[in-house]
Amino acid sequence: MKTTLKLFLFIALILPQVGSARTVDVKNIRVWNAPDNTRVVFDLGSSVKYKVFTLKKPHRVVIDMEGARWTGELDKQRLLGKLITNVRRGSPQKDTLRVVLDLKEKVSPVTQVLKPNDVYGHRLVVDLRRKQGKVRRRAPKLADKARARIKVAIDAGHGGEDYGAPGRRYHAHEKTVVLGIARELYRLIKKDPELDAELVRKGDYFIPLRERTRIARQKQQADLFVSIHADSYKNTSASGSSVYVLSRRGATSERAKRLAAKENASDYIGGVPLQNKDPVVRDVLLDLSLTQQISESLDLGADVLKELGKVNRLHKRSVEQAGFVVLKSPDIPSILVETAFISNPREEKLLKSRLHQKKFATAIYKGIKHFVKSGRIRKIVAESPTQ
Ligand SMILES: [Zn+2]
Repeated sequence: MKTTLKLFLFIALILPQVGSARTVDVKNIRVWNAPDNTRVVFDLGSSVKYKVFTLKKPHRVVIDMEGARWTGELDKQRLLGKLITNVRRGSPQKDTLRVVLDLKEKVSPVTQVLKPNDVYGHRLVVDLRRKQGKVRRRAPKLADKARARIKVAIDAGHGGEDYGAPGRRYHAHEKTVVLGIARELYRLIKKDPELDAELVRKGDYFIPLRERTRIARQKQQADLFVSIHADSYKNTSASGSSVYVLSRRGATSERAKRLAAKENASDYIGGVPLQNKDPVVRDVLLDLSLTQQISESLDLGADVLKELGKVNRLHKRSVEQAGFVVLKSPDIPSILVETAFISNPREEKLLKSRLHQKKFATAIYKGIKHFVKSGRIRKIVAESPTQ
């Protein structure tokens, strides 16, 4: 009796506080480390009013959420890493949840609230951008002597918050298996004296689609762009490899159209801060240069598809086209490879296996090699060092 009464009193005491205003549950924090950015994601019960500010000595970021309460577990060890050295939470005033991140260096935080989608509920996303000291970008001078080799930008799809398509039987995630294949491809190309490679995504973090093409073209100054993915379909018997290229208008099939829509949803799932969304730039100019890009990409795609046909069955015998955002580089041949169906248990197993990751990578490498050898790429190799 006594305990029941105590419990009753306790509930009566706390209930008015909890119920007085709308309370936002903060359920979880996730942290994703990228080379120049650390993304901190809060899972929320509903949208929240927040304030984010930085403090010095030591460097800290403080996130205050109004009317919020912590309901999850705070697994500190999982959050600490390259940038964050400690995480604390408290309550500077009633009804405010404060999360303090201790940092190794100064950052500029960029914050956004994301609405629920198929994968996540409400999220508060805080991107901690590392200060970039020197100018890293030089004007793309194509006749640079060091650039005698054709450089391939390898883009492992998805990452971080965006898991991509899920496996059905072996718990594989698209973002993980495609990074494995990308790394194998990187190793193969690096061994080739005629080619050079860079990974667009180097770890488990999210990169917006437009940012991927920017990294490849401006930062890495690549000559080719290969985005690596794994397909999925509700019917688990769907299988095989396929290769896609950008389409200027319309898709070559319903399936290609649906696939492009699915891959383009990446930004929506991962969350792109507003200032990253560039307006539709000079569409006419883009359209003209895209015609050339697409014709080269179709050749590259055909070469890669042919090689993929030697290590896996083909889902489609020809290269298909649709409006993939990640392929919208105006000037470098760009293809998207759906290596296999992660929704098909047999292919999921292949995608997970190191041996088969290597096989997929080898096929893509051979296709690229064939394309480069054929001389169909506009290159630079023979240009004199003057402009
Ligand atoms: Zn994908």
